Amino acid sequence: MLPEVGSLWLLRLLRDIQLAQFYRPILEELNVTRPEHFDFVRPEDLDGIGMGRPAQRRLAEALKKHRSGFKSKNWVYKILGGFAPEQKETTPAPDSPLTLPEPEGGLKCLIPDGAVCRGELLGSGCFGVVHRGLWTLPGGQSVPVAVKSLRVGPEGPVGTELGDFLREVSIMMNLEHPHVLRLHGLVLGQPLQMVMELAPLGSLHARLTAPPPTPPLPVARLCLFLRQLAGAMAYLGARGLVHRDLATRNLLLASPRTIKVADFGLVRPLRGARGRYVMGGPRPIPYAWCAPESLRQGAFSSASDVWMFGVTLWEMFSGGEEPWAGVPPYLILQRLEQDRARLPRPPLCSRALYALALRCWAPHPADRPSFSYLEGLLQEAWPPEGRCVRDVTEPGALRMQTGDPITIIEGSPDSAAWKGQNGRTFKVGSFPASAVTLADAGGSPATRPVHRVSPAQGERHQESVDGDRGKAKLRDLPPAWGQRRNVPLQRMKGGAERAWSHPPGVPGSTQGHWGRRGFCHPEPQGGPALPSE
Ligand code: ATP
Repeated sequence: MLPEVGSLWLLRLLRDIQLAQFYRPILEELNVTRPEHFDFVRPEDLDGIGMGRPAQRRLAEALKKHRSGFKSKNWVYKILGGFAPEQKETTPAPDSPLTLPEPEGGLKCLIPDGAVCRGELLGSGCFGVVHRGLWTLPGGQSVPVAVKSLRVGPEGPVGTELGDFLREVSIMMNLEHPHVLRLHGLVLGQPLQMVMELAPLGSLHARLTAPPPTPPLPVARLCLFLRQLAGAMAYLGARGLVHRDLATRNLLLASPRTIKVADFGLVRPLRGARGRYVMGGPRPIPYAWCAPESLRQGAFSSASDVWMFGVTLWEMFSGGEEPWAGVPPYLILQRLEQDRARLPRPPLCSRALYALALRCWAPHPADRPSFSYLEGLLQEAWPPEGRCVRDVTEPGALRMQTGDPITIIEGSPDSAAWKGQNGRTFKVGSFPASAVTLADAGGSPATRPVHRVSPAQGERHQESVDGDRGKAKLRDLPPAWGQRRNVPLQRMKGGAERAWSHPPGVPGSTQGHWGRRGFCHPEPQGGPALPSE
């Protein structure tokens, strides 16, 4: 008997016989937490919680089977890789510096219920709520953590949510990268809890959309985040994983200069020679971030993650705007494929970086750069740093004072006006090139000539959407782009959530079609990207 497993066995047993609705009443009214407790439950007790006699017979049958096969069928342990709880607690020496329990294969650490104390609510997602917490190690040291608890509804956790939660655990427990959120361990309690590294500054999306007086993130910082992201994604790709939910809402800030890829609920292993994951049935996906093949066929790969990387880049340089705002989800695929439309270049984004995003949005997955290649492309597109050598006060020019650090967004040696961001004021604008000297690279990425296209030319420049193929020339704006600031956005739980909100007036869009958070379901190959009913 494994009391640590809590009541998960009960949930699974009831789910298997379609009686999950009795999970809470059995647990809370009858106080059953172990299979042998049923020895003391009378039919009248089950009548009392509204369970009919045929259902009671099904339950008795299931219990009999459960008891005979319990040891070999411990599903939590199976899913999590066959760990044994008692093998996983590690005790650091009391006087050693703070060292967290290290993985020994399988689960990183099984954490006793009482060792984690939950505090302030940080947010909530599809199947869990996340709290700030404090984890007391066996040696007495305390580690600030984030604790994600599986949401338990009135009828207990739903099968899919439980499965997704455990899948997220099983994926995360094998990951170790400086820009991937670390899972410390799992509390096999009631509710089930993931204990994760705390990202004290919250999501990048929240930071991007934070109102004044919070200053905007400097362009150079955004480039740094992109490089960290590309590195983390290259790491995931090398481990045969596809993230499928790359977006600024799922990038967490561990420090002002460090992002961590989080939210592994949709991560899947890639399969087959083509390295793809094809969805087996209708499941929610983040439509506006998805590559065409994901929308059309439910096909995901490292290349579709690269597409999402391009959308994430766009979000970062748009101050957390919603991609394809105002375009009904069922029209996005049409806009991408038939109209060959792409998200427009945000003003903060240099043409070099935008060209990189367009390569991520190549229609054919094979034409998109890999994440490791992207790391090199980012280096090439890195905006050079300069320093102001005289005060600039001319009307219409970006104001600067001698000594101000300037990030050059556009400029070429032969143009008189450059565009850049003042690192002191965070303002962006054009300025006389003669007012700035390029900083000595000193190991920073600004070791190459400034981009050779002048801002004026660049604004008219039409980028190819075909990436390496270079066939298509069209790039245009989503219909609602011009009015997007007037579009009333449906905020659900917070800034980032609007991206998932249910589009109003979509034909046939119902809760069932679009999912709780406004996700859409891809159609089988060749079918229209419309809800199926
Ligand atoms: P999903 O429903 O796809 O899981 P989500 O990312 O919004 O979406 P969670 O992963 O449950 O859901 O996270 C909810 C919120 O909690 C996030 O938006 C984030 O702001 C916050 N959060 C999650 N993990 C951490 C963490 N490790 N440190 C700090 N805040 C976190």
